[in-house]
Formats: sequence, C-alpha cells, structure tokens
Amino acid sequence: MRFQTCRRHPNAAPFMATCSGCAQELHDIEQANRARAAANRAGAEAELSTKVRTALGLPGYPAPSGDETARRVSMWSQHELNNVYEHVGGTVTTRTVQRPTHDGVSTRTVTEITLTVDLPDIGAVEAVTDWDEECGGRDLPLMQAIPDAELIAA
Ligand SMILES: [Zn+2]
Repeated sequence: MRFQTCRRHPNAAPFMATCSGCAQELHDIEQANRARAAANRAGAEAELSTKVRTALGLPGYPAPSGDETARRVSMWSQHELNNVYEHVGGTVTTRTVQRPTHDGVSTRTVTEITLTVDLPDIGAVEAVTDWDEECGGRDLPLMQAIPDAELIAA
C-alpha cells in the first residue's frame, strides 16, 4: 500500500483513498448548493405570497407571519374578509376552534371563518378570520353565504 498526494492540494496530508482537501471542497460545494436551494425556495414563497395577496385584492398586504403562509392569509375581521369575498367570490365555511387567551394561560372558543378561493394559475388559497360579535356584520354577503353557521360571541 502506498500513500498518495493530491496535485490540487499538495499541502494536504498524504492519503490512501481520498484527499482531505478534495473532500473539504466537495463538502463546501454541497453546503453552497443547499444554501442556494433554500434561498430559491424562500424567494419563490415570497413571490407566491405577493401574487396571492394581489389576486385577493390585497396588494401590499404584509408578508406571512405567525401561522400564515403564502396560501393562507389572516384578515382583521369579517368586514375585511367580506371585502375579499366580494372581490373574488369563493366558498365560505366555519369551524369552532380554541384560541389561547392573550395572557396565554387559558383558551377561548371562537368561530373561525374560512374563505377558500381557487385562483387562476395559483390554485386553492384561504383567507381566514375569527367571528367578532362586536364588529357586527351578520348581514354581510360573506355571512349570508353561511346562514346556519353557529357564531360564537367571543
Ligand atoms: Zn485534493
């Protein structure tokens, strides 16, 4: 058995099978490729997010945060959600969910309203809000679409 040296890395330690300099280079290239792929994914997600918000009639709407995604947008109240509904239509559904209270020590029961829209060239997206009794709006077209929904006065 003979030790070899690498012509590209003459200062690397002599080796039996693999030059440590070449192994390091390969490792660095893989790291760079992974970083580039992650940056591309983040860029594509930001682009989709802008496209979705614009299509929903919300240009300049803040980028996703919390449990939002490019395809799931949180609205302030049923009034803003109704504006989206009147702009693009869609299917309205509700479900009962538990939300943590502001102090985080307990939960409260709320009615979550979801508007699902199938956008051209984008696919299914959701705009959501929690029913807020104080904001009113039982006569909004959005609410007329779900006349039998149980609206919990959170
Ligand atoms: Zn080498």
